[in-house]
Amino acid sequence: MRTKVTLQLLDEAARFSLRYACDDCAHFLVSTARCAHGYPTGERTGELREGREIEFCKEWEGA
Ligand code: SF4
Repeated sequence: MRTKVTLQLLDEAARFSLRYACDDCAHFLVSTARCAHGYPTGERTGELREGREIEFCKEWEGA
């Protein structure tokens, strides 16, 4: 899912410590820098900036 970063999203991300990037996903293999499911890796960091468009992966899972 793609969405634009808004002020509301920035506020909620800070309040709830949002994690969504591949680097924070249990399926991300650090040794190869690839997704264990073979998906193309998306965001590698959780840095958010207003106006930027970001992508959420439906398979993201906390480590
Ligand atoms: S499952 Fe999705 S979020 Fe997790 S490493 Fe793979 S592509 Fe990234």
